[in-house]
Amino acid sequence: MSESKYWEEEWETAPRDVIEAKQLESLKIILRHAYDNTVYYKRSFKEAGVTPEDIKSLKDISRLPFIDKQTERKTQGIVSMVGELCAVDERDIIFISASSGSTGVPTISPFTQNDFDEWMNIESRLMYQAGMRKTDRYMHGINFSLFVGGPCVLGAQGLGAMGIWSGTLPSDRLLYIIQQFKPTFIQTTPSYALYLGETARKKGIDPKELSVKRIIVAGEPGGSIPATRKAIEDLWDAKLIEFYGLSDIFGACAGMCDEQDGLHLAEDHILVETVDVKTGEVLPDGETGELVFTSLRKHARPMIRFRTGDIGFVNKGKCKCGRTSCRINIVGRKDDMFIVSGVNIFPSDVETVLRELSDITGEYRIHVFNRDYTARYGVEVERVYGRENDEELKKKVIGALKSRIGVKPDYIKILDDGELPRAEHKAKRLIDERETEIDQAILI
Ligand SMILES: [Zn+2]
Repeated sequence: MSESKYWEEEWETAPRDVIEAKQLESLKIILRHAYDNTVYYKRSFKEAGVTPEDIKSLKDISRLPFIDKQTERKTQGIVSMVGELCAVDERDIIFISASSGSTGVPTISPFTQNDFDEWMNIESRLMYQAGMRKTDRYMHGINFSLFVGGPCVLGAQGLGAMGIWSGTLPSDRLLYIIQQFKPTFIQTTPSYALYLGETARKKGIDPKELSVKRIIVAGEPGGSIPATRKAIEDLWDAKLIEFYGLSDIFGACAGMCDEQDGLHLAEDHILVETVDVKTGEVLPDGETGELVFTSLRKHARPMIRFRTGDIGFVNKGKCKCGRTSCRINIVGRKDDMFIVSGVNIFPSDVETVLRELSDITGEYRIHVFNRDYTARYGVEVERVYGRENDEELKKKVIGALKSRIGVKPDYIKILDDGELPRAEHKAKRLIDERETEIDQAILI
């Protein structure tokens, strides 16, 4: 018997009307559960003048209020440790993760046994879709401490692959493990995939000669930036597959297939909407805005209309791989967007331009600052070793940024290869200096 192309063929190739009917059925159940069992939703639905019975179609969900990270923080610790959004007794919670807390108090994400098991099945489905099979060896180079991405290694094991729980070991040790255990898949952040490959090269190891055939990346938008993807794929001679997840719901809930054209969303678990960042108005499919997720099956803590803070768009067109779930495309974090001369700029826009240029390494850091009371930006880049003419290089980078993004940077600072910090996890690409005094000498 030939091997199936899908983990759950019937669901993965179901027509859209079947997907949406299933979503509506799950939505009604979860709304009733959230309303009956949480302090928070009972109050917020009442304030909005809506009951679960009023939601008769998927579109009706827009009658319900949004929640966001602030709601999570504010309601945490009230009633119980997991807070007012929690819909089950603490005895039924078998796992909690916590957000990295990079901006503020860490938030907790609780799971019942069934939530956890269903989540792991999604991980298996996404990894199978990424090409992983029983014969593969999978190295999970992701932080395990409290992080919701940690348990995803069980998804690989769930499909029969061999799990190597490396976590975030120092790069020397990680390279040694790769040479010893010969994983065919590794998972890490895009910046770390570049860093690890570069480190290998510096040690005289050609990453292309290593056993890695596929690299799963998550945590930053790099996997969706064609030039960054190509840089990682060329460095490792491996195919890159991007995953997307959020600690507020679960680990990976969307991932690329072989086509690398957007990330298939687990629509049996998540209902996605795109809304206008400022007004909250629901946008048509395909338009770029903030993604809003409703968890359809997570009982421990239902997330109803959660504003993810991620900017992207949804594609409901059929994918060449045969899967019918919609695909999400992430452009960047709302918090990282800055506006210069009326143009919205994400660090990923700058990255797209820089990775395509020769003579620079592709590493970069953006500084946003005020000049004459308006926001401006400057970029630090690194020259490839041996390339000496800085003035020519500056001109090239400025010209490329101006023509592709539409606004010129106020300065380009050229550094030596290796001067910018390499990320062990997520890279900090944006430095906001709008509140600080700028050295005027650096400006053009
Ligand atoms: Zn596909």
